[in-house]
Amino acid sequence: MKLRPRQEIGSIPWDPDSYGQSHLGLPLEVWRPADRCRLLIHAGIHGEEGETTIALSRALRLLAEPSPHCAVVLAANPDGLIRGIRGNARSVDLNRNFPTKDWRPDPVKHRSTLDSPRDVFLSPGSGPGSEPETKALIGLIEELRPEAVIALHAPLACIDDDKQGSLARWISEKTDLPLVADVGYPTPGSFGTWGGERGLPVVTYEFEMTDKDSIVRKHVPVLAELLAGVDPWS
Ligand SMILES: [Zn+2]
Repeated sequence: MKLRPRQEIGSIPWDPDSYGQSHLGLPLEVWRPADRCRLLIHAGIHGEEGETTIALSRALRLLAEPSPHCAVVLAANPDGLIRGIRGNARSVDLNRNFPTKDWRPDPVKHRSTLDSPRDVFLSPGSGPGSEPETKALIGLIEELRPEAVIALHAPLACIDDDKQGSLARWISEKTDLPLVADVGYPTPGSFGTWGGERGLPVVTYEFEMTDKDSIVRKHVPVLAELLAGVDPWS
């Protein structure tokens, strides 16, 4: 993999396209691959998981040229990221807002920390796929038609793929994170379920609960390999 000189990795070397707008009017940005899109990696769909955006940005900034086959969304929920909240500006948990068969109107019960009870309520949206960020991401995927999507999250420390496919196994081996078939609790309306219902493999890549430098050291090289065109399907 050809890397940029270290002095240059402070900036992203090429411009994104906009694939829509958030509720607050912020651009939803995608860095497109040079060639056909095989993989989409998105980060920051939960605005409290900014470490996913930082790690994916750092991996993107290492590349000397655009990724051959991987599209990148650094901030799937920019309103949540700028406000430091899990949901979007309307307090909708976007990862419960996808139009799936199991979408539920009930409040989304969230733990404020991993050892807390589920006593923080968010909305799953006024209906399946109600939010602009959800609609835009679906539109982007329908346009790009990737072979698989990686959704970055934290801090459950696992690689979640109900099919346990080759991409998930590759990430699990590279990261030493356990490969699991679910995260251990129901996630109606999740992005992964939405992909599964359409035959689109989705790997939920959950970083550990640790400091930012440890995440960067461990996960940026793995993400950079994927961006640089390593083929985990072969
Ligand atoms: Zn998350």
